[in-house]
Amino acid sequence: MGHFLPALLIATACTSTEPADLLLHNGKIVTSDERFGLAEALVVRGGYIVAVGGEEIASRYDPAQVIDLEGRTVIPGFIDTHTHIRGRSRRHLELAGVQSIAELQERVRAKAAELGEGEWITGYGWSEDELAEGRRPLRWDLDDAAPLNPVILTRAGGHSAVSNSRALTLAGIDENTPQPEGGVIEHDRNGRLNGVIRERAGLVSRMVPDATEDEIEESLARMLRDQLALGITSLIQAGETPEGYAMWERIYAARGEELPRATVQIRWVGSDRLAAFGRRTGDGDDRLRVGAVKVLVDGGFTGPAAYTREPYKGQPGYRGSLNLPVEELYALVDTANRLGWQLGFHAIGDSAIVLTVDAFAQALAAHPRDDHRHYLNHFTVSPPVGTLDRMAALGIAVAQQPNFTYTLEGRYVANLEGDRLAHNNPLKLPMDRGVFMGLGSDILPIGPLVGVYAAVTRKGMSGEVYGPEERLTMAEAITGYTRHAAWFTFEERTKGSLEPGKLADLVVLSDDLLTIDPERIMDVEVEMTVVGGKVLYRRPDTPRQ
Ligand SMILES: [Zn+2]
Repeated sequence: MGHFLPALLIATACTSTEPADLLLHNGKIVTSDERFGLAEALVVRGGYIVAVGGEEIASRYDPAQVIDLEGRTVIPGFIDTHTHIRGRSRRHLELAGVQSIAELQERVRAKAAELGEGEWITGYGWSEDELAEGRRPLRWDLDDAAPLNPVILTRAGGHSAVSNSRALTLAGIDENTPQPEGGVIEHDRNGRLNGVIRERAGLVSRMVPDATEDEIEESLARMLRDQLALGITSLIQAGETPEGYAMWERIYAARGEELPRATVQIRWVGSDRLAAFGRRTGDGDDRLRVGAVKVLVDGGFTGPAAYTREPYKGQPGYRGSLNLPVEELYALVDTANRLGWQLGFHAIGDSAIVLTVDAFAQALAAHPRDDHRHYLNHFTVSPPVGTLDRMAALGIAVAQQPNFTYTLEGRYVANLEGDRLAHNNPLKLPMDRGVFMGLGSDILPIGPLVGVYAAVTRKGMSGEVYGPEERLTMAEAITGYTRHAAWFTFEERTKGSLEPGKLADLVVLSDDLLTIDPERIMDVEVEMTVVGGKVLYRRPDTPRQ
């Protein structure tokens, strides 16, 4: 029998196939690798990609599951470098997408009926730019809807909120309340409170009773799972306390394999509390890990309170403000850098950006780090070119939100003009100066395709184009939301592109982003989302294979 053996071995080698878990084929696979190459088929085993190439690679494997893409486009899963996913109490109303004050009142009325008289009602996500009335909801609108319930509704972006009379009374705020430090209690021209508080809405929201832990945890897990429908396979949560991180750990221990991968930035809570936390940037695994330490250096743009070098349009002398004293900023940057943390700081106005970069630079000069990957979250008002060059030289990156140009257009037009308006949330200029950039949403809204649309068109909601020279190519936009985004969590070797050896995190899209009319980008549907080789989301009307 022995003489048959060699022949048999050869035959086996020729016809045998390797086992695999999943084959996707007959598609247009945008690898987002260094060359931004294309492929037709992709093979997954054990959660990782084992082969990417032409249709011929399919014959080398014996996959447990086969997905015929029928020509559809696949890209790496979106990595959102800046989100705020929150578990919510039952008091909470999700107001993103509400299109009129009348609709908003209807939602509040229904919630009041559900919860009963006297119960607090909270909400998040309205924007006057999306409301038919073209103005903000005010105290009286909420009094109308729920006179017997205290109500506070936070604007998209989180930098201002409107409360009704009942809420203001319970919070002890009246016409004579002095203006709080770092914020504004708005009065109308007759001196009456209009219900809006900028930057310090906590004066009212501190009165809202806490939800139960279970209520919040269940809701957070559900909201994380919802990200899969948007094609998000990884996200960076922009700021939790060490205690807040414990909830994420519980959720990921129980069902991390059903959720997008997450990295959680930890808020600066002082070196003692951070030391007690006992963890640092990079701790964790490929499902959940600790990210950069986070500080809000200045306010947001919705107020506006971002700290700018020039006064806001039509507001002589008003340049926003820092959220903390300059000396404190320098001291905590130095401490966090020495302790080995990556720094990911919120800086929106150009003055805040210049200062933060200088603080990072001084800390790095005093205590050099090899691969620090410090970055700025947001980058709305373009700083001087000298600051960009300094960032490039020091390796300070930007987690940018191209969608702001679209969603926050109304705010920018109201508060900025000239070059500062045209170059709002710059993309190409910093990149051309060598600043490394990843993209994300800051949940305004979360959908990555809004960011991709705004990045390649630079259009606001009105259709107006802002700084066309800041436009990215589609390849740059996809790279910013995938391969470059992975860098921010030190994971560019394991995700962000579709290459052998990388995690099989990908999305199947209804249309080809590389050839689509840019005006249709936001209509593209996410048909399927795969994380670690497992199909975790399928669009409901997508036929099952
Ligand atoms: Zn944010």
